[in-house]
Amino acid sequence: STKPKIVVLGAGHAGLTTAKKLIQKLSPEQAEVVLVNKHNYHYEATWLHEVAAGTISPNDARVMISDVINPNKATLVYDTVVEIKKDEKRVVLENGDITYDYLVVALGWKSNDFGIKGMGENAFAIEDIDSSRLISEHIEYQFAKFNNEENADPDSLNILVGGAGFTGIEFVGELADKVPQLCRKYDIDRSKVKIINIEAAPSILPMFEQDLSTYAREALEERGVEIRMAAPIKECTPEGFIIGEEKELVKAGTIVWTGGVKGSPILEKSGFDMVKGKVNVNPDLRMPDEEDLFVIGDCSWVWDNEGDRPYAPTAQLAMQEADYVADNIIALMKKEPLKNFVFDNKGTVASLGHSDGIGSIFSGYKLTGKKAAAMKKVIDNRSLYLVGGAKLVLKKGKVRPF
Ligand code: FAD
Repeated sequence: STKPKIVVLGAGHAGLTTAKKLIQKLSPEQAEVVLVNKHNYHYEATWLHEVAAGTISPNDARVMISDVINPNKATLVYDTVVEIKKDEKRVVLENGDITYDYLVVALGWKSNDFGIKGMGENAFAIEDIDSSRLISEHIEYQFAKFNNEENADPDSLNILVGGAGFTGIEFVGELADKVPQLCRKYDIDRSKVKIINIEAAPSILPMFEQDLSTYAREALEERGVEIRMAAPIKECTPEGFIIGEEKELVKAGTIVWTGGVKGSPILEKSGFDMVKGKVNVNPDLRMPDEEDLFVIGDCSWVWDNEGDRPYAPTAQLAMQEADYVADNIIALMKKEPLKNFVFDNKGTVASLGHSDGIGSIFSGYKLTGKKAAAMKKVIDNRSLYLVGGAKLVLKKGKVRPF
């Protein structure tokens, strides 16, 4: 048939939104839309720190793809991408190959340890549902074990988090809620447990203005989180982090690295030109010199209008890019001009556990405390709404009406 085949790789915020928009705008007679994803579910990547802390269950953060994408309108392929052969317009999957006319690469991110010795082997990373669940199970096991051992190692209860960016800070915020619950459950004194965040830079949450990041640090410290800034991690051993020039060893039974991300390793494997772990794309979101290949979400860098810096990778950005890609693919099909991406920044809110947070919204309006926490839940529900409508918000939303 002459019907074009549009293949979308990844069902994160970028890929799922692209597929949804395409099937809204194109009938199955006009094009075949194929969505390829490793699992049969989509997860809210922005909620993974809660899964990792155990403050929500893995099922709260995921939704079956076939519940939100009509399988009569798109072909759903649950398989793992191994390599993209762009010169042959072909994608190699673990269980077969797939050809395309138009390709959208939205395979997301992986943890980046910047080559810090021992980090990959000895620290957990928050990357997907499985790796996040492993962290909460590991923490709970340390608590469950403690009173059953004669000479239990007191450091085994400590939780060490490397990196004070968005993920690291939101994660320790959840831990500050979770640890007291675990202490009650396993009959352990709260004073025995340390939650320690280690950051190389002299401040935390660099994406927020100073007064908000100071608020966040003080609020977390009040709730028992130790935050050590200007403390570069030199190495990670099975016992903990070695930090600073003095090579101080900070010990913990649970070690988590949240200090950086890079684009999916499939990009490099496919021989794409990489800049700092991602692909630089043109303003129309295509890979340079490629007619039919788009790279979006955390796999690419999109430069702002002034061209002096790339937009920070966020779910908000990924979903807006997806809108443009769907329109640009349709424009290509009609041989019409493509649109250049323009980001409409709605602001950023970081949670600090269930009932605290910081935010900067509507170009400069600042929020802290309960208001920010409430705003975060509104944003989380809105994201669910975009994925699966009101039904999904009722089922898995953060502020439930009942
Ligand atoms: P992903 O969400 O990573 O989706 C990639 C998809 O591809 C996944 O479904 C994955 O299973 C699939 N996949 C990966 N590899 C393969 C393969 N080889 N084969 C097949 N399928 C594959 N952003 C915000 O805007 N606001 C926030 O408050 C915020 N908070 C965050 C908190 C945390 C804890 C984290 C980790 C991130 C946060 N972010 C936030 C960033 C945001 O989550 C990412 O920018 C966003 O997830 C990027 O979307 P994506 O679709 O590119 O990638």
